[in-house]
Amino acid sequence: MYNNESEKYLKSHQPLEAIDIMSYKDVIGLPKIERLQQVAHLLENKKWFHVNSTFEGGGVAEMLKSVVPIVKGLGVDAKWYSIEGNDQFYSITKRFHNIIQGVNQEFTLEDLFETYIKTNKQNFKDEVLEADFTVVHDPQPCASIVHGDYKSKMVWRCHIDTSEANEMIWNFLLPYINNYDASIFSMHNFVKDGIKKPVYQIVPAIDPLCKKNRQRTKQEALDNLADLFNEHNIDPERPIVLAVSRYDVHKNQKTIVDAFKKLKVDSEVKQLNPQLIIVGNAATDDPEGMHMYQEILDEIDGDPDIYPLLNIPDNDENIGCLMKLASVFIHVSTKEGFGLVVTEALWQGTPVIGSRVGGIVLQVIDGKTGFLVEPFDIDRIIGFAKHMLMNKDDCERMGIAAVEHVRENFLITTLIEKYMLLMRFELGIDFPYFRI
Ligand code: UDP
Repeated sequence: MYNNESEKYLKSHQPLEAIDIMSYKDVIGLPKIERLQQVAHLLENKKWFHVNSTFEGGGVAEMLKSVVPIVKGLGVDAKWYSIEGNDQFYSITKRFHNIIQGVNQEFTLEDLFETYIKTNKQNFKDEVLEADFTVVHDPQPCASIVHGDYKSKMVWRCHIDTSEANEMIWNFLLPYINNYDASIFSMHNFVKDGIKKPVYQIVPAIDPLCKKNRQRTKQEALDNLADLFNEHNIDPERPIVLAVSRYDVHKNQKTIVDAFKKLKVDSEVKQLNPQLIIVGNAATDDPEGMHMYQEILDEIDGDPDIYPLLNIPDNDENIGCLMKLASVFIHVSTKEGFGLVVTEALWQGTPVIGSRVGGIVLQVIDGKTGFLVEPFDIDRIIGFAKHMLMNKDDCERMGIAAVEHVRENFLITTLIEKYMLLMRFELGIDFPYFRI
């Protein structure tokens, strides 16, 4: 946080060591590795920067933690910067985020000019980012294209669904977006009118080798969760219904709580004695997290079968293990850019009950890798959760399909290849095939 106008706020995240791409051979196979090396070849020593607004929490940070070291291992000179603002900046950009996703919230001209633009300017005070290719992520640092100081080909990467963005905010952001050389969205239908520069589609992805996503056995997961389970008095023998996400209004955790309260009293389900574990964190750029957590606690109202956990220790290992162990994973957001948690659960072989929203529909293939529902359709959530709790064989079948679906479509190596093809195009090397 800053108090002094003369301070420089841009933070560089340097300590990410390069990762050798060959370590992914067993997951994606040698031909895909060789293809990546071939694409990276002409990008060797080129500078590729990422700019976002937090090093911790949320899907963007999660992906950059892997993208940067892997591309470094491929010979590209990658760096990740995060802009920094005061509480007011994060409160405003969180409102932007909500308004862009179609929620009605207030904002003022002072918010825009005194805080948003000023923070974007302030972060680049005395700092010129000189690179071959720079990807700026999401609305928080979007205005830095004009108010910052870059010497680079510039791409804006939007991770959220802007299709129903409030007109005023969209019209405010558009001139900035149109100052970039191109923009990237997760889905074709997230793109709102008015963008005059080329638009590309790249779906988010997970790193299959990072601590959270490495594949493990159920026994290993059980062993590793011993401390967490002891701390919270969670019985490892009881079936787990799991939800993982930031505490956020769009994640719709209240519906999961309501559905579980009804599910657990079903006469057949009762015999299985399931428990609901809700894991969540509050990202540093998300001032609403603690408030939402409190609302979820109120909704749970002391129910002894529901465990709401906040900022759990050894986050990545424990989340991966919980996803491996869960009988059912539920993610019924009302708005969702993509939903990396869904990918993560599928990759651990756990089928997902997901809402028919945003990128979740790319991941949950109805009846094959899980079940799709409308976000507030409690009856169907209960019905599918019951089915999954009572039919282990069917869950196993879906779990196997889920892992293969992620391997084919949502691994970080695929995402990196697309980024590098785009970078090659921007640097005048060749033309990417995934332009919208
Ligand atoms: N996450 C985490 N700990 C938590 C809650 C979430 O590590 O307590 C991670 C989660 O595993 C995922 C990311 O945060 O990698 C959330 O990404 P997603 O795309 O699902 O949602 P976003 O937060 O970007 O809206």
